[in-house]
Amino acid sequence: MGSISLHAAGQPKIAVIGAGPATVYLLYHLHMLALSDVELDIFEASSQVGCGHAFSHETSFPGLLSNLHPDDIPPLLLDFGEWNHTCGDHRNYPLLTVLPRALVGKFLEANFNALIEILWQRNVRVTVHLDNPVTRISESEKGCQLQTGGVWYIGYRAIVNNAGLTNSMSQSPYPLKPACLTGKSHYTIFGSSLTAVDSILTIAHLNGYFTDNSKQVIYSPHREYTIKVLSPSGVFPSLWYPSSHQARIMAFMKSKLPAKFEHFEALYEAVCEPAFAHYCPQVYKQIASMKFKQALAFLTNTSSQCDAKRKLQCELVAYSRAKHDQYWHWHWQEILDAFLSLVETLYANVAYAWHSEFKDFPHSLVAKALGALPLENAYKLWALLESEVLRVERGCFIPPSRSQDSSDTFTIDCRGISPPPLKQRTPRLPPLSEGSLTSHEHLYVGSPHQRSHHAALPGLDVCDRLNRQIASKLVKTFDSNTPHLSLMNIKNV
Ligand SMILES: Cc1cc2nc3c(=O)[nH]c(=O)nc-3n(C[C@H](O)[C@H](O)[C@H](O)COP(=O)(O)OP(=O)(O)OC[C@H]3O[C@@H](n4cnc5c(N)ncnc54)[C@H](O)[C@@H]3O)c2cc1C
Repeated sequence: MGSISLHAAGQPKIAVIGAGPATVYLLYHLHMLALSDVELDIFEASSQVGCGHAFSHETSFPGLLSNLHPDDIPPLLLDFGEWNHTCGDHRNYPLLTVLPRALVGKFLEANFNALIEILWQRNVRVTVHLDNPVTRISESEKGCQLQTGGVWYIGYRAIVNNAGLTNSMSQSPYPLKPACLTGKSHYTIFGSSLTAVDSILTIAHLNGYFTDNSKQVIYSPHREYTIKVLSPSGVFPSLWYPSSHQARIMAFMKSKLPAKFEHFEALYEAVCEPAFAHYCPQVYKQIASMKFKQALAFLTNTSSQCDAKRKLQCELVAYSRAKHDQYWHWHWQEILDAFLSLVETLYANVAYAWHSEFKDFPHSLVAKALGALPLENAYKLWALLESEVLRVERGCFIPPSRSQDSSDTFTIDCRGISPPPLKQRTPRLPPLSEGSLTSHEHLYVGSPHQRSHHAALPGLDVCDRLNRQIASKLVKTFDSNTPHLSLMNIKNV
């Protein structure tokens, strides 16, 4: 098996696995921190750069929405507003509260290309290897190396694993279109997360159309068919909320941080409850005596007998009334989101002991609470429920295998992924599992889904945060004026 070192000896070499959104943020922070004079090899399994899974062209039939408002995209080289005006697709999506997936993907792709250009100008020699899935990584005295397509690439001083959500981790139904184009009469969807919502809407768009007569959205199917959603919660995620206040809420919480905290619940009491009391007093009154998990179940309506239709109705009514409410600007989801982001930040740096606390962390409730269902999608779901094309049932159901589908039924598994067990502190590397890095000193993990733990829902904000930290470490390591050290030397420093 051949091995190649692509570049001239001398400059430090860094390898990056994956060219998705996490890598766009890595490049951005390397640029902001003025990294220079290194070789950067980026290996990407697909033929697309920038968009990754969530925002790829295939994943997103034009109507599918992200949960991102332009203000929710952490800063990048290009300004979204300016880019969208000149190169984006703004004429097609003038009135949406959130951005279509495809548009976010194009924006990330444009940033990726612009960043590579600008890095080259500073002698960061970036090479992008498309259609090159990395299958193995390892470490030896000569440095780190990785294998792709039977070839070893050698001599890296660091590897950044930004491989994101890999097929072996998810039972992802994406890309949705082929799954939804089966022309069956009955679709059964397991789970009621945002993935389920995407699946429902893709099926609905392919089999009918929505009209908005300014009073309500109405669904007209082209043919008779049904969609049955089966999920433990029996409700859809909460209505989308802007995240514009997150920094302010986090600052408030930080001001309440106790010098020492014993466990997660104590931290919840110390920082999150006061934030609820301060920013959402009406909500606080209802959850004041509850523990974190109870409060979460209460807020997401998953502990009550509230059904999907009723919850949607309550949220849409509350949405239209809230505009006149003094608390309109403060959403309980923002507070939870800020709290969990704070936990996660501290978690990584300070509170390793908390890992044990998270053994039964209610990830599905968090997903339900922070899932952020775009308003436009909520109206469409309402129309589908009204038309009786869509039905939601609560309960614990196990999806049958595809082969068990009857000739008229199609099953889509949208139960999503749970974070791996906490004991797996070291980063997971599927599908790179055969390889082994003997120490993980030179392996950085910047994809939220590749990390062994996340408390909040991982989005572009997490990609930004993790890759800022990695970029800063890389710059410190490679911009120090120390001579080129061998790996063994680095370990002994
Ligand atoms: C269906 C879905 C919808 C989402 N919607 C949103 C949203 O609306 N807003 C939001 O903020 N977040 C959303 N997310 C979260 C989203 O995953 C993150 O925001 C972000 O896109 C993760 O980026 P990433 O680069 O870490 O991973 P990915 O997007 O998974 O990209 C990883 C890249 O690595 C490549 N790759 C994988 N394995 C290898 C390998 N072995 N070798 C080489 N290359 C490899 C892949 O081809 C891909 O291009 C969504 C996630 C999913 C799954």
